[in-house]
Amino acid sequence: MSSNNTWVCFACNSGFRKDKNLRSLNCQFCGSSCVNLGYKIAIPLKSKPKLWEQLRFDYYLRERQQRADRRDQCLQRIRWYEQEIAKLEARPKSIDREKVILNLKASRADLWRELPLFG
Ligand SMILES: [Zn+2]
Repeated sequence: MSSNNTWVCFACNSGFRKDKNLRSLNCQFCGSSCVNLGYKIAIPLKSKPKLWEQLRFDYYLRERQQRADRRDQCLQRIRWYEQEIAKLEARPKSIDREKVILNLKASRADLWRELPLFG
């Protein structure tokens, strides 16, 4: 059974039911990028611009909050790596420990690269 999500185009106020696994979707009417609102979201009629405005507002508010949450999680994980690295570096050197430290530093660097994605 295929599973659809509600995608909307905020440029021309159109809604589509499309596969939830799509990574992106362009509007079949105006070609703009659509956004995925998830499962079972009621789509306003085109003749109700105020409802579309509310939908758009809610979407961007939620999206901003989600990005802020993910950035915070990312920063917490970076802090955790900093602490682990500091703990290990404070102990006597060993080849095995150096390898672990290098891995931790690589993971920390990955997180620093991810961070700008969250605004
Ligand atoms: Zn459109």
